[in-house]
Amino acid sequence: MNTIKTRFAPSPTGLIHLGNARTALFNALYAQQAHGIFLLRLEDTDSERSKPAFAEQLMEDLQWLGLQWQEGPFYQSERGEIYTKYYVQLEQQGKIYPCFCSPEALALSRKMQRTAGKAPRYAGTCANLSEAEIEAKFEQGLKPTLRFRVQHSDIIKFNDLVKGKQRFLGKDIGDFIIRRADGTPAFFFCNALDDALMKVTHVFRGEDHLTNTPRQLLILQALGLTAPQYGHTALIVGTDGSPLSKRNGSQNIQDLRKNGWLVEAVLNYLARLGHRYTEDSFLSLPALAEQFSIKRLGRAAAHFDEQQLRHWQHEAIAKIDDAQLATWMGEAVLNIVPESVRSQFITAIRPNISYPSEALHWAKILFTDELTIEAEAQSIITAAGNDFFNHALNALETSQADYKPLIQTLKQTTQTKGKKLFMPLRAALTGQTHGPEMAHLLSLMGIETARKRLQQCIV
Ligand code: GLU
Repeated sequence: MNTIKTRFAPSPTGLIHLGNARTALFNALYAQQAHGIFLLRLEDTDSERSKPAFAEQLMEDLQWLGLQWQEGPFYQSERGEIYTKYYVQLEQQGKIYPCFCSPEALALSRKMQRTAGKAPRYAGTCANLSEAEIEAKFEQGLKPTLRFRVQHSDIIKFNDLVKGKQRFLGKDIGDFIIRRADGTPAFFFCNALDDALMKVTHVFRGEDHLTNTPRQLLILQALGLTAPQYGHTALIVGTDGSPLSKRNGSQNIQDLRKNGWLVEAVLNYLARLGHRYTEDSFLSLPALAEQFSIKRLGRAAAHFDEQQLRHWQHEAIAKIDDAQLATWMGEAVLNIVPESVRSQFITAIRPNISYPSEALHWAKILFTDELTIEAEAQSIITAAGNDFFNHALNALETSQADYKPLIQTLKQTTQTKGKKLFMPLRAALTGQTHGPEMAHLLSLMGIETARKRLQQCIV
């Protein structure tokens, strides 16, 4: 059996956003599940828009996502000689011809076809130029594109891995450009050629590429090369139902990361956008791969919903280990939390945080003198009064800052219970009315800090 090989083939013209990341993920998951290879190819033939910095960034993002490629990165900008060889082959076969039509003439022709209610396609103006005519154009200094001849009678059929049987007619396609006038290869050509030469077996990509596929199959067929199997996944749409963009909720991976989303949350969310898992619970990357199945890829558009992403953030925080959580919290937190109580700190705040900023908030409350008493907490403190805090101070000393005995003593001496007992204590010690379990917090802040804060409530 042939090794399964998938690929991610982004154009480094911008940062990876959720849509590309999902494409990369599906390809990586499928390869991993099949014990195959995941390849990275940078489609950087558009020298004006492609930037090395974007390529670097993109690879960093893939690595952050844990989507390690086993082959590549290959850069199309370095493969010009290979492409030339295949242009020559197609030329010798009479499958391509130089087209001297100007962009203006082509735009006009398209406009006229549209006005006449027809789908625009190349009118074939240069399809039958004689040798002499071609010679004359070159002499005028005109630089042609290269067009691939499509027979009107061609019927291109393929079985899409997601969308099922597809059928396209040559007469609807028209001769298309495979090399631009500046000599760089057009997307259709180098994308298809590289997939074949790199022995890619499966391609998952957005359905916006579906209509490119018949053209790509024609090229590979003409060259006698094996095409991969294509699976076109429904696009991700925003809350308003239109394709996901910045305007309706899309974010790039850099921003997600900066805003404190955990990679495990992003992966669990993205893997389920357009793919059904039988398990609703949090899955590790290997488990996501193991349970990935082409049969479970959906045909309907996948809706982006930040609420869902938040759900997975919660799940991820509950599931990942202390070391991962510590890294995610970041230096700012780790610098404040003493190493000896780090794991205790993590246990305490884990159920109460969603973002690193919240971990920092609790680290400051517990391990620095910074204490902001919220307005609601202040009214609770005021209502409890001096007596309550005098008793609390006594209970703190007799219990040696052990929460359970402290509460028992305080309950007896103040004759309070429930909210009236717990809330003034929480408000005084943390300045907040909500938060992690007080037993953990008290033990972490220690008797001295607790003493100071209780004393401050006595006016
Ligand atoms: N460079 C293309 C893109 O970023 C690749 C499309 C494909 O996956 O075939 O859209």
